[in-house]
Amino acid sequence: MTNVPETFGSLVFNDSVMKERLPKDIYKSLQKTIKEGLKLDITLANVVANAMKDWAIEKGATHYTHWFQPMTGVTAEKHDSFISPQSDGSILMEFSGKELIQGEPDASSFPSGGLRATFEARGYTAWDPTSYAFIKENSLCIPTAFCSYGGEVLDKKTPLLRSMELVSKEAVRVLHAIGDKEVTRVASTVGPEQEYFLVDKELFKKRKDLVYTGRTLFGAKPPKGQELEDHYFGAIKPRVMAYMEELNEELWKLGIYAKTEHNEVAPSQHELAPIFSTTNLATDHNQLTMEIMKKVADRHGLVCLLHEKPFAGVNGSGKHNNWSLGTNTGKNLFDPSKKPSENKQFLLFLAAVIKAVDDHQDLLRVSVASAGNDHRLGANEAPPAIISIFLGSELEEVVKAIVSGTSRKDGEAALMITGVDTLPDFMKDTTDRNRTSPFAFTGNKFEFRSLGSSFSISGPNIVLNTIMADALSEIADKLEAASDIDAEIAKIVKETLTAHMRILFNGNNYSEEWVIEAEKRGLLNLKTTADALPYFIKDKNIKLFTKHKIFSESEIRSRCELLLEGYCKQINIEALTMVEMSHKEIYPAAAAYTKVLADSASSKAALGIDVSSDSDVVLLKKISTLQNSLSQKTATLEDVLLHLYDSEGAEEQADYVRDTVLPAMQELRVSGDELETLVGRAYWPYPTYGDLLF
Ligand code: ADP
Ligand code: MG
Repeated sequence: MTNVPETFGSLVFNDSVMKERLPKDIYKSLQKTIKEGLKLDITLANVVANAMKDWAIEKGATHYTHWFQPMTGVTAEKHDSFISPQSDGSILMEFSGKELIQGEPDASSFPSGGLRATFEARGYTAWDPTSYAFIKENSLCIPTAFCSYGGEVLDKKTPLLRSMELVSKEAVRVLHAIGDKEVTRVASTVGPEQEYFLVDKELFKKRKDLVYTGRTLFGAKPPKGQELEDHYFGAIKPRVMAYMEELNEELWKLGIYAKTEHNEVAPSQHELAPIFSTTNLATDHNQLTMEIMKKVADRHGLVCLLHEKPFAGVNGSGKHNNWSLGTNTGKNLFDPSKKPSENKQFLLFLAAVIKAVDDHQDLLRVSVASAGNDHRLGANEAPPAIISIFLGSELEEVVKAIVSGTSRKDGEAALMITGVDTLPDFMKDTTDRNRTSPFAFTGNKFEFRSLGSSFSISGPNIVLNTIMADALSEIADKLEAASDIDAEIAKIVKETLTAHMRILFNGNNYSEEWVIEAEKRGLLNLKTTADALPYFIKDKNIKLFTKHKIFSESEIRSRCELLLEGYCKQINIEALTMVEMSHKEIYPAAAAYTKVLADSASSKAALGIDVSSDSDVVLLKKISTLQNSLSQKTATLEDVLLHLYDSEGAEEQADYVRDTVLPAMQELRVSGDELETLVGRAYWPYPTYGDLLF
């Protein structure tokens, strides 16, 4: 076993390394720059860059790269070496402050949704000093934001940083207004739990669908599924164990707090949970985690699948976004606490979340929309597309008491300002957890459970921080204008909770009744990505984001366009892959097998046996019929795809994909899967679900 404390963070240019390697005054100025979010001065940057370079070279690095998060959802890098040739033919290893602060990747190949005309395709990357530099495969990686020269945001980091600033500012306003003057900053924190599948690499390579799309597009159900529930927390197989060990080690070196790993509900499915950190760091770390999960798997003869739904009929993978707000004085703002004086603060922030989620159900839904995630949401394995909040029965009682103005329980002291004197200890007992809720209070944080496993957590957290800040801002306005602050707090809490009770739901989110009930309550039910994405550009949302300077209107429109296009492209690739598998693999396999059956029947007939009702012939007929329908459905899908781009608008194209392409794919799959159950194993061209999962 490795020495964990020694390994941990060994590839990160973190605070302790900076302290050790930077001159005292430089270290102090850098700390100040980071803490106060100031602009980095070039002389400071030169010293930091040089120290970084020396440290990186000692660790074996030869190159450096600005590491950024364009709209593709994966990270991007452009590597340059430290080598700087000298006039005498020798070389120096150099890295300047300018190179640290700003880079110029050739940005034209990254999607921008039409934001940059090609003649001004250049963008620049700028160091985000709140996220530490680290070493990955002999390169010093510098976490950066990515913008165009026109100032438009082209990445997922910049708006996240803006939303963090925003929610900090508004939360501090509220805290100051209610008398907590010590706080100067509030950080949004996240712990993302990551689910994934591991499959054998050799088997993976034999499946075109997995290779091209990350999910199986065909595949009959195996006799054994997840119904035995023997997988959850089950013994982790030795190969997987070895994988996890190495993965932990790699992540620890990068200062990522990987904590628990256990088997999830589905066969071959696992989960990794880090210890939470600030949203920005958690986002960088989650991106790195996903990348390293794949790399380490490769070394173990495995492939790590991060797709939301790799296998039909088997639970898919999600990402639980545990989110909270913490002050620089060490207080978690969602901690109910035992002190009555802190209850009002808790209830104010609780009221703000409830208002934020109810007012912006659409944006939360938009933030988790993708072709892959559509297979999970509402399919009895993940929360439904309807957004609601689970508070737990005790806290919901408190809320109801405040709304109705009654005492919480008989015999309890009279109501204090906010309706409760002390709050009960919520949900120490994990049995009170509602696993079906999309947005659940879990004691001192909220768990947003609708994210897909392959997502960058940036988008959902931009939304969470922004909508929370918006609600807090409204509350702060009222508090700052109040003459009797306690009366105002009580009024705000009561009014806000009363107005947004409909968003609270403690029951079973998977049930049919909830769908009906939610509709009665007027809650949104945006079932698919094509339904959800257009909400992004609704007036209300453009106003929200532009008011708070998170996105400009053109940035919102271009992002929406990009997401819609991405949805269509992804499903188009899936459909084309199905067509290819049908023509090149499934049909020929069926033909080869029917030939064997036909040969067998004719040899029997040659011996004078009556084969009119012989099993060879019966099976042959069955398979032939299926072959015909496979062939027809493939032709239909091909035809459907020809018209994908008939309409001009991205919204119309997405509707077409949802209403016409996906159903045609489903039809084709049925024939393919039926053939799989009938054609002999030796003739079947790709590994089955049974092969892949057990
Ligand atoms: P569980 O009981 O569900 O295992 P944990 O307390 O282990 O809950 O937390 C699950 C995830 O939530 C972990 O990633 C953890 O780090 C994270 N988490 C805990 N507290 C916070 C917080 N204040 N802010 C954000 N995430 C948190
Ligand atoms: Mg969880």
